[in-house]
Amino acid sequence: MLSLDEIVGKIREQTGLDNAVVQQKIEDKKAELSGLISSEGAAHLVARDLNIDILARITRRLEIRNVVPGMRNVEIVARIYRIFPEREFERNGAKGKVVNMILWDPTGTVRMSMWNDETKILENLKENDVVRVFGYSKEDNRGEPELRLGGRGKIEKTNDDLPAFNNVVIEDKRSDTGEFHEGSIARVRGTLVQLFESDPFYEVCPQCGIRVRANENKFFCDEHQYVAPNYCMVLSGVVDDGVMSIRAVFFRDVAEKLIGMKTQEALSIAKERMNRTAPITERAALILGKEMVFSGRIKRNSMFDRLEFLVSGVSDVNAVEEANKILATLGN
Ligand SMILES: [Zn+2]
Repeated sequence: MLSLDEIVGKIREQTGLDNAVVQQKIEDKKAELSGLISSEGAAHLVARDLNIDILARITRRLEIRNVVPGMRNVEIVARIYRIFPEREFERNGAKGKVVNMILWDPTGTVRMSMWNDETKILENLKENDVVRVFGYSKEDNRGEPELRLGGRGKIEKTNDDLPAFNNVVIEDKRSDTGEFHEGSIARVRGTLVQLFESDPFYEVCPQCGIRVRANENKFFCDEHQYVAPNYCMVLSGVVDDGVMSIRAVFFRDVAEKLIGMKTQEALSIAKERMNRTAPITERAALILGKEMVFSGRIKRNSMFDRLEFLVSGVSDVNAVEEANKILATLGN
């Protein structure tokens, strides 16, 4: 149970009202109810009249590294690292959409997904904003926590102080002695020195885009049951910047960009050659050893207990240098 001071504090924090004004509202509420209610009770009613959800605020703020699957109440303060493009799907003839984003704090990163009307929140948000998120967590299909809003969840911009990504970005290991650590956002100029020839295709639900599980030659989505799957690509390899190397993983559009081929095209090559790794073999020579800029986040792969570079952007060094030149001129 919150004390009167705590409730007043929360009302003031969220409305910016003066202490005297809030106290007066509480007195008015007591008078309205003929003094039959305690000050705390009246304060709760005032909060409700002002649309302030005091109880939702009792959740304990967590560091991202402590968010695990299956938590009913999660409160974090994070910087938005990446907002992925909206994906549309159809369910029983009705259109739906989902947007994923990656949230960062100095202890780690976590994926959050917003569904249908929840995506409206994003109209007021952009990458690099600092937000306070209230939600719950569930397990995604890689065993990682995924944040969801749910009925009581919300995301709001906040003035809380979080370091900029710049403070943890490892631009170039040749000039930076920083180490990769779990949760760091990395930008590495280097080359892909290895590209593993493992099956690049995996099945996803055509309705929500989430990976499906194979079950006796059929594919099962937790939310949409048995589905005829779509295919996505994942590639993995080793990125090396001349000083050190790290295992890197490329999903979906990033994988397409890396090998310069849409998934459909890769699928037809695989079919034609009757070999699922054929598209990789075909493109490897073009990609290996080429200098590129990789950006993404460092995650611990708990199955193998090693750090991995989850790449969310690949660009040509030349394009980046060109862009930097343009930015430099604009700055003058
Ligand atoms: Zn689904």
